[in-house]
Amino acid sequence: MITRFSAAMTSDTAQRLTDHLRRADGQEDCAFVLWRPSTGATRTTALLTEVVLPQEGERIIHGTVDFTSAYFLRAAALAADYGCGLGFIHAHPHGRGWQRLNAVDHAAEGSFAAQTQVITGRPLVGLTFAGTDAGFGARIWQQQAPRSYTPTEAESVRVVGGRLMVTVNHRLLPVSPATNRQLRTVSAWGQTTQDDLARLHVGVVGCGSVGMLVVEALARTGIQNLSLFDFDTVEEVNLDRLLHATIRDVGLHRAKARIAARSARRAATATNFQATPYELSVVEPEGFAAAADCDVIFSCVDRPWPRAVLNLLAYAHLIPVVDGGIAVDARGGRLRGAEWRAHIAAPGRACMECLGQYDPANVQAERDGSLDDPAYINGLPDDHPLRRKENVFTFSTSAAAAQLNQFITMTTAPGGIADTGAHLYHLTTATLDRHEDGCETDCPYDCMLRELGDDAPVTVIGRHLAAEQARAARSREVRRWPLRVRRAVDDILHRLV
Ligand SMILES: [Zn+2]
Ligand SMILES: [Zn+2]
Repeated sequence: MITRFSAAMTSDTAQRLTDHLRRADGQEDCAFVLWRPSTGATRTTALLTEVVLPQEGERIIHGTVDFTSAYFLRAAALAADYGCGLGFIHAHPHGRGWQRLNAVDHAAEGSFAAQTQVITGRPLVGLTFAGTDAGFGARIWQQQAPRSYTPTEAESVRVVGGRLMVTVNHRLLPVSPATNRQLRTVSAWGQTTQDDLARLHVGVVGCGSVGMLVVEALARTGIQNLSLFDFDTVEEVNLDRLLHATIRDVGLHRAKARIAARSARRAATATNFQATPYELSVVEPEGFAAAADCDVIFSCVDRPWPRAVLNLLAYAHLIPVVDGGIAVDARGGRLRGAEWRAHIAAPGRACMECLGQYDPANVQAERDGSLDDPAYINGLPDDHPLRRKENVFTFSTSAAAAQLNQFITMTTAPGGIADTGAHLYHLTTATLDRHEDGCETDCPYDCMLRELGDDAPVTVIGRHLAAEQARAARSREVRRWPLRVRRAVDDILHRLV
C-alpha cells in the first residue's frame, strides 16, 4: 500500500497537457495519461510517460466534460499493452495551484478506479490541472477492501526539464512559519518562490569538501528537508577542505554524513527542519531508494559508479541532478591551472555521460573493486582523472557556488531563464565555457530510459565493498571505546536525530 505519493513529468509532457487542457472557450477538458512507478524508500512517484489525447467523439464538452467508455477502454488497453498504469487528468480552468479533490471529481474517478486496476494491474492515478497557473494536483486510488477504492493524495507534482516547477499540496507539506531569519533571502525572490524552494526535498550525495558547502547553503536558504549521503569517515587529510570538521571528529572517527547533518541543523533557518544522514552510497540498494525519495539531488561525488546511478535517477526517475567537479593541474607540484564545472542532468539537458563527467568503462572497474585497489590506480597514467587528488578549499567553494547557482537558476528562473547550459570555468583565463546542447543522438538516457522508473532494464545498484568496509571500520573503532563513552555518544546522537 502506497502511503506517501507524488507525481512527476517532463516539461514536454506538461506542455502537451497544458496545450490540450487550456481551452480558448474556457470550458473544462480532460485526457488519459500513462504512468510508470518510481519507488523510493518511503515515497512512490507516478512518472507520466504518455498523453493519450481524445479522438473525435471520445469526450463530450458541455461546460464540464465527460468521456466515453470507448475512450477509457482504448487508453486502458494501451496502458496494459505498454505495461503502464492509467491516469486521468481534467482541468479546473479557473483553478490556481494545488487542486483538492471535490465531491463531483471523487465520484467520477471512483467510478472507474476498480476497472482500471483490473485492466492495467495498477491503481488509477487521478490528476487535476489548474488553468490559471498550470499547476497540477494528483492522487492514487488504491483498493482498501473488495470493490472499495479510496484516493491517497500526492504530496507534490513536479515538472522537470529546463526549469523545475513543483506544485505542492499545502496540507501534506506545510510551510514553515515566517521568521526574520530569511528576510533578506525572501526579499530577493519573494515569499512564493521561497515557499516552493523550502519544500523541495533535496539530496546531497557526497559530503566532502563541495558537498559540505552545498549543505550549509541549502540549510541557511531555508530548505526544510535534506537527505545527506556519504559512507566515508572523516580523516586528518580532509581538514584543509571540510567545512565544520574538527580534529575531534577525526579522533572520534565520525561519519561525514553525520557531521553534515549536525552542521545543517545548526545552520538551518527553517523552523521545521529535518536532515537525515545516510552512511550509504547511492549505488547500494538502500541508498538508491533513499535518493529516489528526493525531488532534486546534488551530486558531489567524483566517482563514475555513483555518477552513473545518479544519471539514471535524473532521466529514468525524473529527479534532476546538479553535478559538478574540480580538476587541478599541478604537474610537477606547481599549480598551472584549475577548472571547475557545474551542470544539471535532467530531461532536455545533456546527461553526465554525454558531458564526459564519467566514462562508462570505469563504472565496471569501480563495481569490481579495481578503483579501490592501489595497484590498479598506480597503474593508471599520472594525469588520469581517477589518480588526481590535488585540491584546495578555495576551488571547492567555487565549485559549490557554481552548482548552487545552477540549482537557483533552475528553480527560480531569474529574468525568466532557467537553463543556461553546462558551465566550465577556467581559472587561468578567467573564462566560462557554456555548453547548451542536449544529449548525443545515440545516448540512451534522454530517450530510451526516460520516465521508465522501476521498469528501467538496467541494474545499476549492487554491493559496494569500500562502503561496507568504511562502516565496519567505524563500528570497530566505536567498539573500542569504554562503555560509558559509547552510551554518552549514543545518547547525544539520539537527541540529534
Ligand atoms: Zn474537477
Ligand atoms: Zn546523454
